[in-house]
Amino acid sequence: MNSNPCERCGKLVPRHDLTHYTTDAGTLLLCTQCFNADVAERVGVENFDNHPLDPISISAVDGVRHEFHFRTRLMGGDMVTLEAFELNEGEPSGYQFQLIGTPGEDRFSQLGRLVKRIHATLATKYVEDGKYGLQIRDMEVKGSIEADISEGTELFGTRPPMLVIDGREVSWEQFGEMLMTFEGFQFKLQIIDKSEDLES
Ligand SMILES: [Zn+2]
Repeated sequence: MNSNPCERCGKLVPRHDLTHYTTDAGTLLLCTQCFNADVAERVGVENFDNHPLDPISISAVDGVRHEFHFRTRLMGGDMVTLEAFELNEGEPSGYQFQLIGTPGEDRFSQLGRLVKRIHATLATKYVEDGKYGLQIRDMEVKGSIEADISEGTELFGTRPPMLVIDGREVSWEQFGEMLMTFEGFQFKLQIIDKSEDLES
């Protein structure tokens, strides 16, 4: 596991739990708890619930269980982000969700909203393993756009997209192959912010 010390409290935490925090005094690598405590003090948010949330395991429609880790970050006086992500070798990967709330909202009602969204997403599968490899199940695909950081995949000097569909990584090339099943069809592409509900 890739652990680093928080430059404020010294606690060893996984990399996904560290934030580059820039202040007048320079940039510090802070654990989520120290980051939130510092932001709360700066923007004057009192009684901010800074307790870490335990991971939750949720079953997808195919019976596969997914373990979600949570990270709450205070982004200012009126905004809290709550993120849920799976881990692969200590790095966030697979299904990833973000919800934007306010510092005053009860943490558990916020978590409830996010978990409801996770359940809705895990209830649908957009791709399946077919005779010719991975295929689109039913003329529609939803997922997220990440970067393909594997070696030798640079395209026109930049990173090609790595799509995450049903929580699994689908390379740009693989996605192209999947689309060829529909040669001659039309398509519609809509880009949606990470914090919005994809299933609504
Ligand atoms: Zn810390």
